Amino acid sequence: MAAPEQLEAYEGPATIEKVAALCRRRGFVFPTSDIYGGLGSSFDFGHYGVLLIQNVKSEWQRSMIQERDDVVALDSAIILNPQVWVASGHVGGFSDPLIDCRTCKHRFRADHLETSQCGRRPSKRPGETADCDLTEARDFNLMFETFIGPVREDASRAYLRPETAQGIFVNFKNVTSSMRVKPPFGIAQIGKSFRNEITPGNFLFRVREFEQMEMEFFVPPAEAAEWHTYWINERVRWHLDLGLRPSHLRVRAHGADELSHYSSATSDLEFLYPIGWQELEGVANRGDYDLNQHSEASGTKLEWIGHEERYVPHVIEPALGVGRSALAFLVDAYDEEVVADRPRTVLRLHPRIAPVKVAVLPLIGKEAPMVEKARPLYEELRKVMSAEYDDSGQIGKRYRRQDEIGTPWALTIDEQTLADGTVTLRDRDTLEQERIPLDGAKALLADRLEQPWHPRS
Ligand code: ATP
Repeated sequence: MAAPEQLEAYEGPATIEKVAALCRRRGFVFPTSDIYGGLGSSFDFGHYGVLLIQNVKSEWQRSMIQERDDVVALDSAIILNPQVWVASGHVGGFSDPLIDCRTCKHRFRADHLETSQCGRRPSKRPGETADCDLTEARDFNLMFETFIGPVREDASRAYLRPETAQGIFVNFKNVTSSMRVKPPFGIAQIGKSFRNEITPGNFLFRVREFEQMEMEFFVPPAEAAEWHTYWINERVRWHLDLGLRPSHLRVRAHGADELSHYSSATSDLEFLYPIGWQELEGVANRGDYDLNQHSEASGTKLEWIGHEERYVPHVIEPALGVGRSALAFLVDAYDEEVVADRPRTVLRLHPRIAPVKVAVLPLIGKEAPMVEKARPLYEELRKVMSAEYDDSGQIGKRYRRQDEIGTPWALTIDEQTLADGTVTLRDRDTLEQERIPLDGAKALLADRLEQPWHPRS
């Protein structure tokens, strides 16, 4: 992994704009409500985007739940009893300090002033010129409000959850009394969260409606620091195993002045996006803050009661945005090169993250004997992995299309297939082509999908 000083700035071929353009062109991500002019920084996922984020989520679930015996799943409601958000501190404290400029009418996050762009020239940064007329910082609550029932009054006010974590804390008693769990154990949840961000932007990086993958790990208080380190390392391993470049990932511990109201220690896993090093995932030590707050506010004691012990567990929380994670995979995978005098854009995604694993391509789509071999092969493969069949256009164009959506393997059925029952297996990254028996293709690819995969440097 990168030492903090190792890479100052992103040096690869991707830009946020190029990745967003490819995502739109190839049906991964569209601006939402496009025909009405969109809705700033809100996105819809198309076919390949859906497959991609499903893969991200199922890899998270696989490592967090399926391959462990100490974490259980939960899916709580998006709109909770509003008292949850009072007790959690979000009604009072979930805010960003904001500064307005009376001259250019722009609004900036006080903690992002140094890197913000002023609306007027020649000033680049807010406050840089004598014309800039900045207000004091004011707190702006990031929660979206709504009303339950027909009357819009204070008593019916509710909130769209700004994080999934609180749904986990308020279910602590339900889970401990219904499941065979004992600290240290975790509750994991994937779901939508909503934040009225002041400065959304950079494609999927900061949006107002997003999915989070959060896991609250409840531990004996004396073990909290140790488990915090454990989860930081586990999460780093997850990102690297799925193909992020070690030189683009680093861990940064928060300074005392950065810590959230609930946290006694937080480390961010930062990723080198084309816009610079940014938070990809947070791993917080939330202490006993949340369970205590909800115990006090609800009157239901949230604590662990064992045979000879009774205590309020401390909580370690790895929290990752699905879109922010998908964007990191896309950015790291994006490559441009020239092959045989022609430019090629390719997404070198880890095969397990790639939306489509294999494309089945009859060399000549109108040639019935080739189709008769290709179709059954495709129908066999798609039972065990996401596969695509494409028989239209030149083979080169079909390969390029698969390269752009990140398909790691293509199987081509040609004259030789008809003669000897072999097909060409083309590798997206090396462009090597090998002949393999058609009959063995399914087992071979299923096996390759399980093999470790590393990005080319
Ligand atoms: P930031 O400082 O970038 O606003 P945060 O520290 O407020 O993020 P957390 O509350 O720790 O974020 O949320 C956990 C994770 O959820 C983040 O690491 C990020 O991956 C994701 N996330 C948070 N806010 C957004 C957002 N507006 N859009 C997309 N993902 C987000």
